[in-house]
Amino acid sequence: METTLRITSARAGSDFVSRIEKISGQKLLACYQCGKCSAGCPMAAHMDVLPNQIIRMAQLGMKEQLLAARSIWMCVSCLTCNSRCPKDIKIAEVIEALRKAALGGGERNDHLHIMELPSEARSVLPPIATISAMRKLTS
Ligand code: SF4
Ligand code: SF4
Repeated sequence: METTLRITSARAGSDFVSRIEKISGQKLLACYQCGKCSAGCPMAAHMDVLPNQIIRMAQLGMKEQLLAARSIWMCVSCLTCNSRCPKDIKIAEVIEALRKAALGGGERNDHLHIMELPSEARSVLPPIATISAMRKLTS
């Protein structure tokens, strides 16, 4: 029973990793945790999970923790992290993918059509979620 649970859990995590990699177009396993992304992030002081930790948690398929993290809404998509990464990982796109996953859920989360969300949902969305839907990273 315990083995089955472990396998099921690992499979769920791996599905999440694949989904985030697909949406973001990034290879999460390329990250070797140098920390340069977090060191240059202007929003790091306001984050509960730093950008390099987001990538590590994404590698591990920690879906619930990541989708509940305040950091994915604190990121302002300035792209500083992208420019500092020695492995050319676009961290901002990974965070964007996490925002989409948090908002969209289900299978239809590779893009976001903000006007298709119920008006009640739109009225309580964090502003950055609305803004990110109209950014060039979101299509
Ligand atoms: S894009 Fe987001 S995570 Fe990257 S440096 Fe800017 S605020 Fe930080
Ligand atoms: S800068 Fe790149 S390689 Fe370094 S921790 Fe951040 S994502 Fe990983």
